[in-house]
Amino acid sequence: MSDTGGSSAEDGGEGSESGPTDGDVLETDGEGAFDPIEVFPETGEPDLRPGADDCYKCSTCDTNCPVAAVDEEFPGPKFQGPEQWRLKRREDHDIDPSITKCSNCMRCDHACPTGVPLSQQHNTARAEYVAQQVSRFSREYWRNRLLANYGTMARLGSRVPRLTNAVMGLSATKWLNERVLGITSEREFPEFATETFREWWADRGGARVSSEEKRIAYFHGDYANYNTPEVGKALVRVFESFGYEVAVPDQRCSGTPMFANGMLEDARRAATFNVEAFRELVEDGYDVVCSCTSCSFALRQEYLELFDLKGVETVATNTYDAVEYLRIYEDLEGALAEASGDDGQPAAFAYHTPCHARNQGLDGQTVELGDAVDGLEVHDVGDSCSGISGTYGWKRERYETSMTIGAEMFEHIERADADTGLTECPTCAMQMEHGTGYEVRHTLEVLADVLLEQ
Ligand code: SF4
Ligand code: SF4
Repeated sequence: MSDTGGSSAEDGGEGSESGPTDGDVLETDGEGAFDPIEVFPETGEPDLRPGADDCYKCSTCDTNCPVAAVDEEFPGPKFQGPEQWRLKRREDHDIDPSITKCSNCMRCDHACPTGVPLSQQHNTARAEYVAQQVSRFSREYWRNRLLANYGTMARLGSRVPRLTNAVMGLSATKWLNERVLGITSEREFPEFATETFREWWADRGGARVSSEEKRIAYFHGDYANYNTPEVGKALVRVFESFGYEVAVPDQRCSGTPMFANGMLEDARRAATFNVEAFRELVEDGYDVVCSCTSCSFALRQEYLELFDLKGVETVATNTYDAVEYLRIYEDLEGALAEASGDDGQPAAFAYHTPCHARNQGLDGQTVELGDAVDGLEVHDVGDSCSGISGTYGWKRERYETSMTIGAEMFEHIERADADTGLTECPTCAMQMEHGTGYEVRHTLEVLADVLLEQ
């Protein structure tokens, strides 16, 4: 960068009264080196402008955006990403409030052919919008803070799960939540388990398999801990059946709902804790394995894009989705084929790939596993977005958009020759249940059934 901080008429840059014309030779410093013009001064913050410059305006991201498809007022990811960051070259430019309509599904990030860092740009824009343009005294701020910190609410609620479930199920509670907080009353709150995953883990005495060579550290996240411990139990049992020693370190929320609500400082605290906890285990030979594809997406991509933490790259490069891990390091298809037989009841599932799984290249893996098992049918319901995107579909003003986006998936599930849903994302599962009334299971639960209960 130039030391002068800008161009001048003398250096022949922008603003020169007599710029170079055809046939002129650009003046150099005498050694043939061209001294570039510093148009934008250094700020010390991540510079997202080079990524914005990689955009050649093909609009592929816009055509892949589920919100833009159903809301004609939403300007789309090209605007939220590269165009917004180009505008920010002018220091007085505010973030456009339409960033709050983005659901954080990250389909645009996956679709971009030139690798524009749309995920990083959206998360940063959302955080800047919340920090600078949303009042700390507004309902929007407190509602979003509450949703972003689901783990804190869940920790309290799961101390008295039956009472919490009863209170949260009351019509009066839903009515109050909608009127006071702006949380939709259309949805049923997910129930808290009477025993969390971590309580189960402690009661069984932790790992039952020891191994020097095969060791994984399980990132369960909040939902598998407080709401669906059966998913975490299935993961532990399946990995132990392959001879893995499982560690379950202390951990916090992956940060996914915090990113989606622009609560970047909350996410930074969670990421700092998690990276520190898992980095030490990775250095001891463990790989990090997640049962939720949004958690693995956060640990693998969002932490790296947003936080400069010691060990963040070590954790990111050693993090896997649980099913992906077994497909890479074990003969999962072979084990399933061997375990399945005529004894098992035929089962058919309508499978939805979560957007964050698709972003990690994991689409297709569950359907392929289904092919390996006699009597198991896994019907792919297509590549549409479920529409809920974590906390997005819980906001009163986003509920209709969320359901309109989900309509294609609901229809495909109902058309599939199956009466149970299947997915790896807990909030996609909520949306599938809400839109169809089907029971929805996690792939790990089905793997555990086939591998361990013959
Ligand atoms: S993250 Fe999803 S909703 Fe947001 S702009 Fe990208 S595709 Fe659209
Ligand atoms: S897909 Fe990528 S290159 Fe195309 S408009 Fe969107 S950000 Fe730009």
